[in-house]
Amino acid sequence: MRLVIVGASGSVPGPASASSCYLVEAEDEHGRTWHVVLDLGSGAAGSLQRYLDPRELDAIAISHAHADHCADLAVMDVYLRYSDPDGPAVVPVHGPFGLAGRIAELRGVDEHSDVLPTIAWQPGVPVRIGPMTLTCAAVEHPIPAYAIRVEGPSERGGDAVLTYSGDTDACEGLEAMAEGADLLLCEASFLERDDQPRGMHLTGARAGQIAQRSGVGRLLLTHIPPWIEPYEAVAEAAGEYSGPLGAAHAGMRVYL
Ligand SMILES: [Zn+2]
Ligand SMILES: [Zn+2]
Repeated sequence: MRLVIVGASGSVPGPASASSCYLVEAEDEHGRTWHVVLDLGSGAAGSLQRYLDPRELDAIAISHAHADHCADLAVMDVYLRYSDPDGPAVVPVHGPFGLAGRIAELRGVDEHSDVLPTIAWQPGVPVRIGPMTLTCAAVEHPIPAYAIRVEGPSERGGDAVLTYSGDTDACEGLEAMAEGADLLLCEASFLERDDQPRGMHLTGARAGQIAQRSGVGRLLLTHIPPWIEPYEAVAEAAGEYSGPLGAAHAGMRVYL
């Protein structure tokens, strides 16, 4: 299983990266490669085309309906509908309840998209996408939001686990999803030194605490907004987590 950081910028796109978008790929026993993206934030549909034709996606998984995680579903609708004269392609979208209406709102129409059919997350109910299994848990954010755990074949044999936090403050749901993961891709939108509200985002330090308690193999901080230096978030996390860690950037590949 491989993770490609398509967009890592937090809350808004930045000069070097689109908003949240993470491509996860894995081969099944027949050698066919399956492709899933976790979130499709503002600017991400363009960056994604560096790595594959978006028509090749097997599924899209959306953590929550904030624009920096789902805005480019409107762009994807257009791409899937018009990019091939032979006809539209259809890509299923797993996401929070009500996402079909949100996509219509982003498109500026009333009807639900027929090229992006939606399936509502059910926490604890696994979703199979080829050789990958996705499970989700509700997390703490101002709107319904989910952390996503992806289990699939490891590049080194056996299975690997990738957990993506979505947007959340520290909570049980995230810890349950992160437990024993090989990689925790975790948001760190805030810094401890700033006086920020609770119930919305993690700081680098709180991301590090969760990684430590959950016993993850690696911690990759993401969703750092353009107005924060990534090294500051990493330094906070390093004070709490004793394993390998770093900050995600667009174009980074991680082999699991
Ligand atoms: Zn966000
Ligand atoms: Zn959010």
